[in-house]
Amino acid sequence: MSGAFETSTRVCEHPGCELAGQYRAPRSPDSLDDYLWFCKDHVREYNLKWNFFNGTTEAEMDAQIEQDRVWGRETKPFGRPSEEQRAWQRLGVDDPHQVLGENATQNPGKSITGTRRLPPTERRAIEILEAKDHWTKVEIRKQYKALIKILHPDMNGGDRSDEERLQEVVWAWEQIKESRSFKD
Ligand SMILES: [Zn+2]
Repeated sequence: MSGAFETSTRVCEHPGCELAGQYRAPRSPDSLDDYLWFCKDHVREYNLKWNFFNGTTEAEMDAQIEQDRVWGRETKPFGRPSEEQRAWQRLGVDDPHQVLGENATQNPGKSITGTRRLPPTERRAIEILEAKDHWTKVEIRKQYKALIKILHPDMNGGDRSDEERLQEVVWAWEQIKESRSFKD
């Protein structure tokens, strides 16, 4: 998972949470170099609050994202394979969906939720957004916003290491937004 500091041995600072604190967030607007460390869910939650208290509106954030794009960085899918894809590639399979996806024989005892037939672009976008393919656009947009808040440099103390992942996420939402495969 990009954005995680894999070598961190910290524990999430959310009270009562014992997951690894792999994600950092600035402690306060006045001390951006001083970090709190959280697990993925809690950094998301923290960033949402941070955003609220910091007074940044969604419109301002959208404008910032728009501006980033105007700086000449095209939004397109980047070919960084996931752990799972790498595992499949080692087995000589480039597209696991050929094996596991639409063309695969369904286990009749298993729910088929999450195996909707989707064009490859939309399927990829859903994976990037860590969304479910039966979600509505409103639900996916919510997920998109949450990811943006975690990944955007303005939201994580100027850390630009998530930039590539951010571009992917922005690209993915654009595909879903334009797609007719999802309900509004
Ligand atoms: Zn936690």
